[in-house]
Amino acid sequence: MSVWLDQKAERNRQAVARLTKALPSIFPSAVLSRALGRAFVPPTPRLAIDSYWRAHPLRADRLARALARRSGAPARWTWRLGDNRKSGLPVTFRAPPAPYREPAFAPGGGFCCVCGQPVYRFGWHADLWDGGPNKNANWHCACVIAWQFWNAPSGEARLLRRLQARRCAETGARLWKTAEIDHRVPLFRVWSERRDTPWPELLDYWGLPNLQVINRDAHAAKCATEAHERRTMRSSELVAKFSAAKTG
Ligand SMILES: [Zn+2]
Repeated sequence: MSVWLDQKAERNRQAVARLTKALPSIFPSAVLSRALGRAFVPPTPRLAIDSYWRAHPLRADRLARALARRSGAPARWTWRLGDNRKSGLPVTFRAPPAPYREPAFAPGGGFCCVCGQPVYRFGWHADLWDGGPNKNANWHCACVIAWQFWNAPSGEARLLRRLQARRCAETGARLWKTAEIDHRVPLFRVWSERRDTPWPELLDYWGLPNLQVINRDAHAAKCATEAHERRTMRSSELVAKFSAAKTG
């Protein structure tokens, strides 16, 4: 145990030395104080920034959506799905719409493919160093974490449970261990009914504003109602199509 502790202390001493040496004179203080307070200190400024956003996925979610609001959607862009991955379009409505990831609207090196804003040194979103965009980068560190969160919010279940004071968002009952993450407005409904919501407001359906933790039984009941609504929606669409075909 004590050998292990010695090794850990030595490793941390080296990491702090490396980090301090590589650190520019200007560096976000919140990132630095978190890095130095870690059990394993990240040895480079870039890793310190990664580790900061990994620890704050909700902050990353909020920032990525705010940055995207600065960009707005490219002219002529609409949310479309592709038949396959080669199309460069998302193949399912479950993936968050990201115009700047589509080949037709990709802004090129130095801009983030999630939010469309310039990426600066260390993947930071503000040019603290007056160096201009980093031409080799096309993700903000924050947007990497936001993207993961939007695609797999259940990875942050513990955080979301804490945010709800461990109460089920549907019933108010205590959350069970088996509670699940749910989109308040289901994504199929976003695609079928709210597709024309301007981007990036669309992203709010993947971010915290549309997420909740609910107990498994409440979730099953909600899913059953949604499935029923989906079937009704589909059959009324079919009826409309059929009668249009008959009269047309
Ligand atoms: Zn970004």
